[in-house]
Amino acid sequence: MNVYTDLNIDGYERVIFCENKEVGLKSLIAIHNTRLGPSLGGCRMWNYNTEQDAITDALRLSKGMTKKSALAGLPLGGAKSIIWGDAKKDKTVELLEAMGEFVEYLDGTYIIAEDVGTTLEDLQVMAHKTKHTGSTNGSGSPSPKTAFGVYKGIKATVKHKLGLDSLKGLKIAVQGVGTVGKHLAFLLFVDGCELIISDINDVPLKELEYKIDAKIVPEDKIHKTDCHIFSPCALGAILNEETISELNCSIVAGAANNQLLIPEYGSLLKERNILYAPDYVINAGGLINVFCEIGQVYNEDKVLSLIENIPNRLLDIYRRSDETGLSTNAVTNLIVEEILHSN
Ligand code: NAD
Repeated sequence: MNVYTDLNIDGYERVIFCENKEVGLKSLIAIHNTRLGPSLGGCRMWNYNTEQDAITDALRLSKGMTKKSALAGLPLGGAKSIIWGDAKKDKTVELLEAMGEFVEYLDGTYIIAEDVGTTLEDLQVMAHKTKHTGSTNGSGSPSPKTAFGVYKGIKATVKHKLGLDSLKGLKIAVQGVGTVGKHLAFLLFVDGCELIISDINDVPLKELEYKIDAKIVPEDKIHKTDCHIFSPCALGAILNEETISELNCSIVAGAANNQLLIPEYGSLLKERNILYAPDYVINAGGLINVFCEIGQVYNEDKVLSLIENIPNRLLDIYRRSDETGLSTNAVTNLIVEEILHSN
């Protein structure tokens, strides 16, 4: 039996604890804001240590989705859901279907997508019970579009910071060559960049080393690499006091979510004269791809034209950061407030 409990949390439109004991489902759906449209966000399946950890993660991630959609110019709000469990051991058809029933109950105010621990196939199972799923309309994984958006964002950032129209000959250090990092590295290679890569997994490193003539460095050295651009494409919170002081680049631009350990570190980057492309802006390509699948026939040209919002938005942020002296992430937060309050 499905049991819903509304948690009243300040600053969030709706946070619901969802439980179905028969199938072992414990989950949370956090809807942060629907001012711009129905909320969209991935479903993370993770074995959290405590209930508080699960709630904190859902709240943080859903707020990030509100920002990302607004900055990408999409008529979407922000949300995120979590399923509390081990994605390798606890996932069953019944559990995923029960999650689909909870999503359906929200009647389209929440559209569920994939995230860490859930896949396109899992969404297809949830879709047995709900119409409100993203990524199930045929375009496949959104990751290549995330990589393409990051690539376009890097080009705009290079134009602004280095005054160059081409990436040819630039040295770029990519941290993490998983789904997004690998695609990005290929795009940069084709443009004539010199690539330095690291990963904790040897398999993609060995594949790329020869295909794109990349230099491999240990994972604790990649951010210190002498390069034009450091591109975090692995984990969040990589930019802390210590790593920022060790950076040897003029631009930080990559796909990873929540790159700054705390927002204030954006100022440390600015003080070091390193131009930071805010993650919520540059990594929105995958979200744009999912948006173009919802309630419409998927059209790749539309995705590519919306991805142009990424370089345009970045150039606006850099101009305002130069004019005001604020860090690029502080400017980004102001723009989100402006967008939300003008709607
Ligand atoms: P992924 O899991 O496919 O790839 C991440 C890679 O980073 C893996 O190869 C992993 O081995 C490596 N890694 C982990 N820790 C590392 C470390 N300390 N040093 C070096 N490498 C390390 O994930 P992904 O889908 O490619 O996403 C990459 C990042 O981009 C994540 O932060 C994700 O949240 C963010 N992001 C992804 C998308 C998308 O469309 N997939 C969209 C927006 C943001």
